[in-house]
Amino acid sequence: MSQEETEKELQELFERVGCPGRGWRFDPSILRPEQGLRTMLERHKRAVEIWLRDVRMQYVPTMGPVHFDYIENWDVNALAFESDNHDFVGVYVGAIVTIYGFFGSLLAYPRFLMSIGNPLAEEEWKSDIVDPQQLFRQPKDLARRSFAHLIATIAIVFLFAHEIGHLMNGHVKLLGTKKGMPLLAEFDPTQKTREENLTLQRLEMDADAFAVGQGLTTALGRAGDPNHVFPPDWRQWYGTSRQALFSWTLAIYGFFRLFFKGTVNLDDLDSTNHPPPEHPVEHGTDQRGGVSKEKGAQGIDTTARTNYRGGYEDCGDWTSADYVYAA
Ligand SMILES: [Zn+2]
Repeated sequence: MSQEETEKELQELFERVGCPGRGWRFDPSILRPEQGLRTMLERHKRAVEIWLRDVRMQYVPTMGPVHFDYIENWDVNALAFESDNHDFVGVYVGAIVTIYGFFGSLLAYPRFLMSIGNPLAEEEWKSDIVDPQQLFRQPKDLARRSFAHLIATIAIVFLFAHEIGHLMNGHVKLLGTKKGMPLLAEFDPTQKTREENLTLQRLEMDADAFAVGQGLTTALGRAGDPNHVFPPDWRQWYGTSRQALFSWTLAIYGFFRLFFKGTVNLDDLDSTNHPPPEHPVEHGTDQRGGVSKEKGAQGIDTTARTNYRGGYEDCGDWTSADYVYAA
């Protein structure tokens, strides 16, 4: 069977198991080549495929290939499942766009992160009324734009790695065999029992821990060897491991604040399938301490060399961040 035929079969499986009730499988190549959304989605898809290939070859040779696809839905969600001995990850288009919009708007605000680039190049919001066009602002200053692009990408890679964590750590298999759940979706409105919610929270924490490990290896690896960071305009953010950890922490903190609103009531813990937003970030901080103690902040594990590049070096020219909202 040719590679193209296999790819087609995997796409059909994805449509059969992952898409019903959610949206069509979304192939970015149906968009016009000059559309920013197409470039954004294709680059992240390609980067995640390269990253997955490297992770499998170097770290988890027992893991089978993972098929990745987008779902045409403007909500924020992602899912992982197994079917016919293949692993699948699906991400809603809305998740990618929301993450870019969120970090772009933050850096387009002149009084936020004033130490990054030239904040005076940015415009104040002129009114308190929400203008939908203003919600998708991109920073005018090139350095701030590069930084927004970097932290949006860190957040997106965290989401991908989190889904891979669900697959690699056996969560999908466990829920399938024990609970008959065909897939694991991040935001799933089905009512669950107290026990199911507590189980799911443990799995979420475990997937977060996997993504935290991947993210910190990447961040510290880049700081240890900034000349290999792609695109080259990101190198300015990896001068020291402190700087690398700052970007990573900001991206992950923003990511969790974006997806999980409200305060935590410990009495309600068993009514939700995700742990409170503070926990994953604290967990990250713990792991960061662990990494620093074992290897020293500068003593980077060089076995993570390919992994830390995250596949982005093979994704063409990223130097123009204008693609994001050029559509
Ligand atoms: Zn999850």
